Amino acid sequence: MYSIPRLNDVRTKLDPIPGAVPHPLDLPKGCKFAPRCKYATAKCWAEEPTLEQVDEHQFVRCFYPEKEVRNSAEHQKAVVNHES
Ligand code: SF4
Repeated sequence: MYSIPRLNDVRTKLDPIPGAVPHPLDLPKGCKFAPRCKYATAKCWAEEPTLEQVDEHQFVRCFYPEKEVRNSAEHQKAVVNHES
């Protein structure tokens, strides 16, 4: 979400998503962003999130779309940074 350009954003540089885009014929199991996501948990590595509509024009495909949840101490303890 930090990589999306916004008209009211005063930053001169966007935050890139670290790592490389996976090969389309060798996609990871679970969430396709898990290898590059600093919030990935064991659930992210094992299951692919479904696409959920959050308002009239917006959809999300993430188990933890709320920033407060992702940044909570409980969530940080559950973060798995690599497939294990
Ligand atoms: S936190 Fe969301 S984007 Fe990140 S790996 Fe899990 S489901 Fe994917």
